[in-house]
Amino acid sequence: MSPEKKPDNLINAEGLRVDGRRIDELRPIEMKVGVLKQADGSASIRQGKTYIIAAVYGPRELHPRHLTLNDRAYLRVVYRMTTFSVPDRKRPAPSRREKEISMVIANALSPVIFLEEFPKAVIDVFVTVIQADGGTRCAAINAASLALADAGIPMKSLVPSVAVGKAEGQLIVDLGDEEDKYGQGDIPMAILPHTEEIVLLQQDGSFTREEIIEALQMGINSCKYLHEVQKDALKAAYVGATSDEDEENDDEDDDYLDDL
Ligand code: UDP
Repeated sequence: MSPEKKPDNLINAEGLRVDGRRIDELRPIEMKVGVLKQADGSASIRQGKTYIIAAVYGPRELHPRHLTLNDRAYLRVVYRMTTFSVPDRKRPAPSRREKEISMVIANALSPVIFLEEFPKAVIDVFVTVIQADGGTRCAAINAASLALADAGIPMKSLVPSVAVGKAEGQLIVDLGDEEDKYGQGDIPMAILPHTEEIVLLQQDGSFTREEIIEALQMGINSCKYLHEVQKDALKAAYVGATSDEDEENDDEDDDYLDDL
């Protein structure tokens, strides 16, 4: 692969970004549910060139036992990048970054799961980055919350997530790898779509107070769109009209999925 060159401008005179997007435009997104046979729940996400698979196992018996929580389930998230997911071979040993992102994903997901319904158990979430091109922690949250729903884990809501960043002094949503590397900063966030409660908020780079307020609003708008894509992915997996009776059931399923 040829080494990547820093682009002259991340936003051109027409206001378009390196991949032709407008500043508030997300990358093409495809989410699928039930992509793995062995897992209790699974989902995949393609967000531009970022490609991630999430698998959920459990609730199940927790090993090692010393991690047991007597009043709730332990949500164990393991985020890993494959060695071939980035241009320079990623070393297989878990990096500090992977451990931090695992924790950040768990923190974003735990507020929506009724963990107290499964004391002493573990819910395992494995997130594997097949190809990384920016925004993997946010895409991972989008896919992991879908995989949890697919596993039938009781949840208050799905969790949509996106990063808003800055390039050439302008706020941009859903950064690709070049924008992440050469831009002026980014703010990954995740929200609960019904209440707009924020469950992930990080910041890299400097932003003024006004920029942060605007970035939050851009992120919330994008998350609401992503939430619709998540619900569509669940509907595609679970709602298929075959008879009148099924159609009635499908309407009930639709209502339930809308609640998520
Ligand atoms: N990246 C990379 N090598 C690594 C880690 C990251 O090339 O070892 C790239 C990858 O495209 C990733 C991007 O850098 O998506 C941004 O990484 P960051 O740590 O900001 O997390 P992310 O934006 O993926 O959540």
